[in-house]
Amino acid sequence: MISEKLQNALNEQITAEMWSANLYLSMSFYFEREGFNGFAHWMKKQSQEEMEHAYAMAHYVMERGGVAKVNKIDVVPDGWGTPLEVFEHVYQHECHVSKLIDGLLELAQAEKDYATQNFLWGFVKEQVEEEATAQGIVDKLKKAGENGIFYVDAQLGGR
Ligand code: MG
Repeated sequence: MISEKLQNALNEQITAEMWSANLYLSMSFYFEREGFNGFAHWMKKQSQEEMEHAYAMAHYVMERGGVAKVNKIDVVPDGWGTPLEVFEHVYQHECHVSKLIDGLLELAQAEKDYATQNFLWGFVKEQVEEEATAQGIVDKLKKAGENGIFYVDAQLGGR
């Protein structure tokens, strides 16, 4: 059985994952409005992936005899800049999420909950990918410049 402390911390993370899902959905809508259909598609997929993270965490909490909660999700920003600025924001946000996951792992270690540590290592690994993917797109956009932007847009549309 999961401790109440860890259960509550995981529930907070579920809320954070759902907030991330909304953040990326907001970016998706913005890109669609701006005519960047590839970026919009990529962001929608990213949003769905964040919801999958929330589901996985909720499922885990329940598997361990805890109660998973759906809490209030704060409003996300909706005014964005250039695609480069948006993806730089994605990268910063994923670095922030990595820190949240690290914090959860530290708590699981303090509680000597090995099952939860094992569960969270999967997310530590996931965050390495998330950061690298976002950084990769930022690099690509920098190299592409103004003229190559629709090439990158088309490429991300293939996600
Ligand atoms: Mg996530």
